[in-house]
Amino acid sequence: MRDLNDRKGDELITGVLEIVDRLKPLHLSLVGGDPLVRHREMQALVPLLLARGIHVQIVTSAFRTIPAEWASLPHVNVVVSIDGLQPEHDSRRAPATYERILKNIAGQKITIHCTITGQMMKRPGYLKDFLDFWTPRPEVAKVWFSLFTPQVGDDLPEILQPQERQQAVADMLALRQCYSKLDMREGLIRQFVTPPDDPKECVFARTTRTISADLKTEIGPCQFGGKPDCKSCGCIASMGLAAVAAHKLGGILPVGRIFWASLRAGEFWSGGTQPPNPSDELRVLK
Ligand code: SF4
Repeated sequence: MRDLNDRKGDELITGVLEIVDRLKPLHLSLVGGDPLVRHREMQALVPLLLARGIHVQIVTSAFRTIPAEWASLPHVNVVVSIDGLQPEHDSRRAPATYERILKNIAGQKITIHCTITGQMMKRPGYLKDFLDFWTPRPEVAKVWFSLFTPQVGDDLPEILQPQERQQAVADMLALRQCYSKLDMREGLIRQFVTPPDDPKECVFARTTRTISADLKTEIGPCQFGGKPDCKSCGCIASMGLAAVAAHKLGGILPVGRIFWASLRAGEFWSGGTQPPNPSDELRVLK
């Protein structure tokens, strides 16, 4: 990643627009580093993306003021990444400290995103304390939690042990009843218990493309890059799409069955070798 040259100014704006006009995404997430490093370009780019009918998400540390006009734009979601309560967050994220975030989100409607780590789960009540701090604030519209996702072979204190993962799921299920801003449905939270075995079985990985700041280099198999440990995946986006796939239309037909069948058919007709096989789709959904 250090060898990549990111673009600036008009070159960045026209480069992003060229990609979206070619790939025609429904949703575009601009993530970091921090997109607000290029805040002038982002301010010019966001309305151009919205004019194309694309939902835009900007993920930032809020190290600088979020443009005021974004608060009233439809189909824009500003997500502020916060690594836990103030002592943990400030030591990891300076200069985007709590103090600076509170100043820079004034007047906004933001989503807070926190990645739960093993260290947090060793302290009972941590998630509740986090929600108690953030949810009363008028700038905070929603809160999302992910779980830390390691790479295969990692041995890090951030990794949740199996019982900590279970506890995190139990905590989120309980807290969503008390904190309406915890914007995580029960079906989504339950997906954390059974993450996909492999990127091939991940709806999120199969429906998204991640392109680096040089606007050429593709990152795979998902936004984590490298060899993510899917069996320990804690990405809220992956779980959200898995929950959609598990949803049964009319109480009978899982959306995922249509998705996997459609994906296989599309791959076959665009030159793949394996014809669609509905029983495979059923296996993946088990
Ligand atoms: S989002 Fe999670 S489950 Fe999907 S490919 Fe990445 S690590 Fe694996």
